[in-house]
Amino acid sequence: MKIFKSARSRLTFLYVAVLALILAILGILAFVIFTTSIYDQTDRALSEVGTSFETTARRHFEDVQEKKNVSEALSHTAEDVSFKNYKVFVFSQTRKLLWQTRTLEAEPNISNDTAQRWLNEFTSSEEANLDGFSNDREIFRVHYHPFKMGGSSYYLIVIHPLDEQKAYLRQIRNAMLLIVPVALLLTSFGGYFLAQKSFAPIAEMSEKAAHIHSSNLYERLPIENEEDELGRLAKTFNDLLARLNRSFEQQKRFMADASHELRTPVSIVRGEAEVSLTKKDRDVIEYQETIAIMQKESERMSRIIEDLFTLARADSGEFVPTLSSIFVDDILADTVRAFRTLGKKHDVSISNSQNGDMPLEADEFLLRRLFTNLIDNSLKHARSKIKIESSMKDGQYEIRIYDDGPGIPHEKQDHIFERFYRVDKSRSSNSKSLVGSGAGLGLAISKWIAELHNGRLKLSKSDSSGTLFTVYLPTK
Ligand code: ADP
Repeated sequence: MKIFKSARSRLTFLYVAVLALILAILGILAFVIFTTSIYDQTDRALSEVGTSFETTARRHFEDVQEKKNVSEALSHTAEDVSFKNYKVFVFSQTRKLLWQTRTLEAEPNISNDTAQRWLNEFTSSEEANLDGFSNDREIFRVHYHPFKMGGSSYYLIVIHPLDEQKAYLRQIRNAMLLIVPVALLLTSFGGYFLAQKSFAPIAEMSEKAAHIHSSNLYERLPIENEEDELGRLAKTFNDLLARLNRSFEQQKRFMADASHELRTPVSIVRGEAEVSLTKKDRDVIEYQETIAIMQKESERMSRIIEDLFTLARADSGEFVPTLSSIFVDDILADTVRAFRTLGKKHDVSISNSQNGDMPLEADEFLLRRLFTNLIDNSLKHARSKIKIESSMKDGQYEIRIYDDGPGIPHEKQDHIFERFYRVDKSRSSNSKSLVGSGAGLGLAISKWIAELHNGRLKLSKSDSSGTLFTVYLPTK
């Protein structure tokens, strides 16, 4: 139903339903207790009428014992005992009606026959007894009271109408039938008002949240009380917004940096093409130079695109490494070999000292890339030597790559693993690089590769005497 779509209506409905159930149970219980106690009182009063009739009759009988006149004793009794609303019949042992209270307006109008019939119902027992009956209009309670006087048995039938009790119970029932719905009505209004008041901050939050989108992710929800549930919800939501904002900003920066990095080689290629197309009568050498520049810039673009693609896959969290059983020492030796010629060309010696086999379940392609990035960086900066050492310590391989370059300025060291971060902002190509001038993505990718293998990449030391990077890879 539409009305139950709102939480406050649902809450109010549940609240009222529970209250209605409780009131109904309490009402029924109270009514049953009232009824029982009223009927108990009536029965006690009936028994008292019987007992006091017997006692008084016996006293009068003893007073007139000389004459042994029962009917005189009974009529004296009638003068002493009040029978308002009680109709009393006295029968002899032979079930002959000896006496009855006179029928006044206020008394129940009960015929002798009715009394006689009840007498017949009860006389099988010598014990006092109680029962109830009704005629067309009224309900009665009847009390049977046998007693002995002067050696003979007498039977008393006392009949009492229950209309007063009925009227009283009816009043209680009517009052309840009025009070309960009124209470429920008031409760539902009160409940709805309270629910509305409690949910108001949520409604406000949801309205505010609905207006938050990519361009105003910096906006925050108001927090009235940080200690209560709503305050905590708003705080959690604000924290989420802050995280979203951060990653959104990161993405934006990433996109801006990526396009910036690509723009340079693209404009170089375009510029070269335009120049060679407009200039007429160029010789082959000139064309070759242009094409060589275009080829280099295209390679640079390819590298940046490949790096971006790797990072995008890394960010998606869905990257599954292609694991195989490899030897880290072999991969390292291969990589060093690839750099030797270039090192020699620039008078940089590359030493690689290894301590036996280093077996590992790893992604061979990615590990090659990790070592290539690090050695390439070292070669770009080394003055005369690069030293690579490997060992195993505390269940992990430690691969240390050291160069005697000028080091990374202290204030920049915290940023070198950031994407697109370069210490030297110029994009001039470096002839000491095997992979070409980078876009500041190499270390970010290397760090990710180490972490993908549950390892770490750390800048262990960097000062004017040189730079040391350490790769940690758990053996299992
Ligand atoms: P790139 O791919 O452009 O080389 P990296 O992410 O690999 O970028 O490196 C980030 C920055 O850290 C670069 O600007 C580089 O100059 C600097 N850097 C990395 N390794 C070394 C090193 N061994 N010595 C000095 N500077 C280094």
